Amino acid sequence: MQKEKLYGKTLNELIAVTRRIGLPGFAAKQISDWLYKKEIQSVEEMTNLSKKTRELLSADYEMGLSAPVNVSASSDGTKKYLYRVLQDKYIETAYIPDNDRATICVSSQVGCKMGCVFCMTGKQGFQGNLTANEILNQFRSLPEFTSLTNIVYMGMGEPLDNISEVLKSLDILTSEWGYGWSPTRITVSTVGLINGISEFLEKSRCHLAVSLHSPFDEERKQLMPVQQTNNVTEVLDIIRKFDFNSQRRVSFEYILFKGMNDTPRHIKELSRILNGIKCRINIIRFHPVPGSPFISPDNEATIKFKEALNAKGILTTIRSSRGVDIQAACGLLSTLERNK
Ligand code: SF4
Repeated sequence: MQKEKLYGKTLNELIAVTRRIGLPGFAAKQISDWLYKKEIQSVEEMTNLSKKTRELLSADYEMGLSAPVNVSASSDGTKKYLYRVLQDKYIETAYIPDNDRATICVSSQVGCKMGCVFCMTGKQGFQGNLTANEILNQFRSLPEFTSLTNIVYMGMGEPLDNISEVLKSLDILTSEWGYGWSPTRITVSTVGLINGISEFLEKSRCHLAVSLHSPFDEERKQLMPVQQTNNVTEVLDIIRKFDFNSQRRVSFEYILFKGMNDTPRHIKELSRILNGIKCRINIIRFHPVPGSPFISPDNEATIKFKEALNAKGILTTIRSSRGVDIQAACGLLSTLERNK
């Protein structure tokens, strides 16, 4: 019989585990310290628990960490790791070092249901939700784990389509009994699922990034089928009404497609629809995917677009493309071949 994994359980879930096997309540906190504050690999190493307690725990539970099974390294220092999940599926995770920052881009699902036309994961279809264990294992089992400064939920999948496991993982990352990370070091990116967004805003304190890509309904529908059922206008209304603290950031991601969403008309409409929201726009360069008719504007046009938005009073930055040569950049993650 497969043992249950302890890593990825919240403190409340660990309390339930200790009750189940007849341990005192304080044992849950001892276990969470071992899981999230120390670098051990097995229950056997939880040495402040008695031998008897460790035996009781080990009968039904294991740590549940698993190392990546493959790595590709980019010439720019980015690495792409392959992890095995859900018994026989695979996901990819990007590690992006950048001067004094080191960011991990984690996946929340195997594949994705959202079908954004510019994204390789979207073309892969959906093969399953990751558990909190599998989300956090990407972070904990990363060889560069101790150097990480930031986490972005921008890998494979739509995080708010797997909201309960994503919220659990954020709870573990940011709670005092967990990793105790500041929520300002964590960003969750979404296409804008109306149901999930309120829950995410209320139950977490992490930064929010919304993939926008066009301010026009018809155009956004062409790029992102989710617009048919989750109109971004409604998402913006939810964001506008939410009381953000000064530390919490909202950003909008905008992939530039030459001749499509990079015109003065788009700048004017972006400024209109984002009016009243304290936010920034992150321009992302398009990385071509097979069968896609889109191309990226040149550097000069991209900078001009950014400056025009800045002139409208919207703080706008251009995200640097990392890991393009190993298909680790935005929109390129895919495990289609391996998951067949
Ligand atoms: S961009 Fe994100 S939400 Fe859209 S298909 Fe790709 S992984 Fe899914």
